[in-house]
Amino acid sequence: MTRVIGLTGGIGSGKSTAADMLGRLGGAVIDADDLSRALTAPHGGALEAIRAAFGAAMAPPGQGLDRRAMRERIFRDDEARRRLEAILHPAIAAEIDRRLPEARGAYVLLVVPLLFETGRYRQRVDRVVVVDCSEALQVARAAARSSLNPHEVRAIMSAQWPRWRRLQAADHVLWNGAGLASLEAQCRQLHETLAGG
Ligand code: ADP
Repeated sequence: MTRVIGLTGGIGSGKSTAADMLGRLGGAVIDADDLSRALTAPHGGALEAIRAAFGAAMAPPGQGLDRRAMRERIFRDDEARRRLEAILHPAIAAEIDRRLPEARGAYVLLVVPLLFETGRYRQRVDRVVVVDCSEALQVARAAARSSLNPHEVRAIMSAQWPRWRRLQAADHVLWNGAGLASLEAQCRQLHETLAGG
């Protein structure tokens, strides 16, 4: 079976960007965030369970999950967050297990933001690549890209492992503190290593 490489990193570190680059070089990419979005898009497989747990207003008929409303709901309510995760995490893991045997590439990249934190994927991956940059850059990039403000980005970061812990657990590190050309050069080198054995 094709080797499975976990790719993780804090919010805004550049996971999706690095995964795109490695994908263009020949890795097969399975992205947990993409799967999560598909599960909660209009007609997504998790909407029924989300409506049952949180009420129909959270995902009106014919529409997908109201992401902002859900984010506000779980921001200060840990119990609600756990309920949402109990719906989404097993569904994402099941979808990953369905796709893994079918993935064709020099290797399979499994992009999972909380790869270390959940523990669920540790036995599914052969090696782990961590994308890393300073916390200030994480906040600036994540806030510029999404509807999150810097305060919300910091709150998400505080629920993730600190950088030092991720770096300590990494088999490979992509340093994304400079421009895209630097990341691309590192991805090319890493691709050779991963594809070569
Ligand atoms: P993640 O998937 O880890 O949350 P992304 O790959 O989506 O992070 O990157 C966050 C934002 O930062 C995106 O808008 C992306 O285009 C940008 N970005 C990523 N790496 C760089 C870089 N080296 N230089 C400039 N912008 C970057």
